[in-house]
Amino acid sequence: MSTKDELAKAYDPKPVEEKWGKFWLDEGLFVADAKSTKPKFSMVLPPANVTGILHMGHALCFTLPDIITRWKRMQGYNCLWLPGTDHASIAVHNVIEKRLAEKGLTREAVGRDEFLRIAWDWKDRYAGVITSQLKKLGASLDWSRERFTMDEGFSRAVIQVFVSLYNEGLIYRDYFLVNRCPHCRTVLSDIEIEHKDIRGKLWHIRYRVEGSDESVVVATTRPETMLGDTALAVHPDDGRYTHLHGKRVILPLQNRPIPVITDERVERDFGTGAVKVTPAHDPVDFELGKKHGLEQIIVIDGAGKMTEAAGPDFAGLDRFAARAKVVEKLKEQGLLVKVEDHDHAVGHCYRCQNIIEPYLSWQWFVRIKPLADEAIRVVEDGSIEFVPANWAKTYFEWMYNIHDWCISRQLWWGHRIPAWYCRDCGRIMVAMEAPEKCDRCGGPLDQDEDVLDTWFSSALWPFGTLGWPDETEDLRTFYPTDLMSTGFDIIFFWVARMIMMGLKFRGRIPFRQVFINGLVRDLKRRKMSKSEGNIIDPLEMIDKYGTDALRFTLAALAVPGMDLALSEERMAGYQAFANKIWNASRFVLMNLKAESPEVREADLTLADRWIRSRLAAVTAALDASLTQYKFYEAADLIYHFIWHEFCDWYIEFAKVGLREANATTEAVLADALDRILRLLHPFMPFITEEIWHHLPGPGLSIAVAPFPVTEKGWTDEAAERTMALVQAVIVETRTIRAENRIAPKDKLRLIVKRAGREETAALEAQAASVRTLAGLASLEFAAVLPAGEGLLKGVAGPFEIGVVPGKPADPGQERDRLQKELAKLDAETGKIERKLGNADFVAKAPAAVVAENRARLEELKARRDKLGKNLAALADPS
Ligand SMILES: [Zn+2]
Ligand SMILES: [Zn+2]
Repeated sequence: MSTKDELAKAYDPKPVEEKWGKFWLDEGLFVADAKSTKPKFSMVLPPANVTGILHMGHALCFTLPDIITRWKRMQGYNCLWLPGTDHASIAVHNVIEKRLAEKGLTREAVGRDEFLRIAWDWKDRYAGVITSQLKKLGASLDWSRERFTMDEGFSRAVIQVFVSLYNEGLIYRDYFLVNRCPHCRTVLSDIEIEHKDIRGKLWHIRYRVEGSDESVVVATTRPETMLGDTALAVHPDDGRYTHLHGKRVILPLQNRPIPVITDERVERDFGTGAVKVTPAHDPVDFELGKKHGLEQIIVIDGAGKMTEAAGPDFAGLDRFAARAKVVEKLKEQGLLVKVEDHDHAVGHCYRCQNIIEPYLSWQWFVRIKPLADEAIRVVEDGSIEFVPANWAKTYFEWMYNIHDWCISRQLWWGHRIPAWYCRDCGRIMVAMEAPEKCDRCGGPLDQDEDVLDTWFSSALWPFGTLGWPDETEDLRTFYPTDLMSTGFDIIFFWVARMIMMGLKFRGRIPFRQVFINGLVRDLKRRKMSKSEGNIIDPLEMIDKYGTDALRFTLAALAVPGMDLALSEERMAGYQAFANKIWNASRFVLMNLKAESPEVREADLTLADRWIRSRLAAVTAALDASLTQYKFYEAADLIYHFIWHEFCDWYIEFAKVGLREANATTEAVLADALDRILRLLHPFMPFITEEIWHHLPGPGLSIAVAPFPVTEKGWTDEAAERTMALVQAVIVETRTIRAENRIAPKDKLRLIVKRAGREETAALEAQAASVRTLAGLASLEFAAVLPAGEGLLKGVAGPFEIGVVPGKPADPGQERDRLQKELAKLDAETGKIERKLGNADFVAKAPAAVVAENRARLEELKARRDKLGKNLAALADPS
């Protein structure tokens, strides 16, 4: 062979990863070609938040699609995997406003322009952190096409979408009750609210009927909102209140008369059946208020503070302080009837976990139904496929019950809404470019202060990143993309909206498949969190075990539809796997003597035929697993093939062939290693690239070398059958050696009782290999096994075998050893029997644990039987 330099003695991932990571980028191997005539495979990466730092979730979201991309690229596809970052409006506001607060400043104090300058500056400095961390994972992204949701072209796409949806009547402005986070000081869409059950109270308050001694009791979970009540409602058929229809009650504390109204939506069973109506602070009341033409009095402002309208006693108080004061005043006036405990769900901000506040204000909305109908259809008819398929159900549930989407946010960092208001006549103008003056009255204009929901821009990611609204070559070549790989938590936030926007603006689906990956959890399947102290940091793992080990671990744990139970031990295990491959490769490379060895069919040994047959099987199986995104299955296949077939068996057999200077075995060995490296490359890109460059033959990079195809002609059932026989005999002989503590250096005499003619002949033909691999002095075949002589017996497939040890063990010492072993076994057996005898354990432990214990017990009993027999044989040697 053209000897390139030798592999280092031990594998050190760091310099290797650094070298090839840089090489791939320098050579532009992952840069897609929009002009290529090859079939394309394209993906866009979920844009990483600019505020992000790498966590295990990212590592997973990068590793799995990277395996697919690398696999496709090696299969000859023109691959594009496009990266980018998201401006993450609220997250950036939280970071920057916190810093301002440390200096005693607010965003209002520094002003919009200065705030944006700080935000851009911050983005330029920190967006690089997440991208450089991502590069460490070896993801084969096309960084030459990296995008940012607020870059110039993408911003143009966002504004264009807004303007055209507005012109079509699919975006409108409305005075509406929306969710607002008083802490983040912005409104949020419905799905940005997390509903949590909390232990609250139900306050019963007495309202006097106007001009009478009578009173009505209402129950509420939010007494502070009573200050903004504008009616009291009862069910029209509720006999308890018929006499109050058309009357008025006096609102306590405010001393304001409010009408009693009737409505079928009032639940007669809730509280007293009479409810207060606060149109400006409750979604149901808001609807009631619209229907009955009630006044909307805002008593809580956007910061969660009471307004002037709440009255002088309460104005300026925080909403929770106001609640306490309202309750206290009602008590003083004898109007608080009773207080009960009451568990109910309360909306919290998904960003900061504060309780959200319903907030009446002018906002912008997307009329979603017409967009959703199409998006439902493409999933129903299979144009877009969810993997695993059951996620489609989740998607439909949400899509069928979808509400209009509030897209305005009272923030500054983001895409400013392209709407202008006339100061003189109130006309609204929506346009791509700022208009100079009102087109109705010529008056001066002010632009809307708000920005768009971050998800509004990310919804355009699959086509905005490819150059839309321009009809670029990238757009023509790479849209629709093929695969979207993401987490289940953003199916609504993101996946559904990409589908709607893709259909609306490209007339085509944005991707053909949606792969939903699991969550990375700890070994006890708990969520990783700072407070639990169970976070496994990917960068630390890369440092300790190497990127390849981390990637392989994630792939091996990725069972579709399941969360991943991650442990450091797994990574250590796959680091050992990397070392195993390294050492095996060193052996192969050192033994390649011929210039360019060739395979001569006639010289193929049984082991050569067997490994080629196994290679064909594994290649086909690996293809099938990856096609179905069964990463765990693919990882398992390649792992067992390399470790247990190639390393444990084939290399050992090949040593026999190499000793005989069989050039064909040399060629098979080199070819098998080459194929193994290419099969493994998508999972472990770094180590495979390094070793591959030491193999004979030219090639720029394994990353663009062809992925092995299944050689159907290599399938050789006869070879696999014979090999199984040979392996069985070797394994059984090794077991007998181990059980009887015979030193590896002691050569054994092995006697095989003849079985079927064909099988016996096949085994006889492999005598040389069996002798070497089982450590034999001699291999004999006999019609019957000889009696006595301390013959150690075993069964291997169809054969009975007998081993004559080179040196018999000292019977006294041996008896002591066996007795000690027996005592240990008895102790363990007893422990498990007690466990399984405990009805409580059997009832409560997971079925798998019980089954595991039962299996272990069976195994212990079998070993005990065998030991017992050996002991008996020692006591009575005849
Ligand atoms: Zn918040
Ligand atoms: Zn005007």
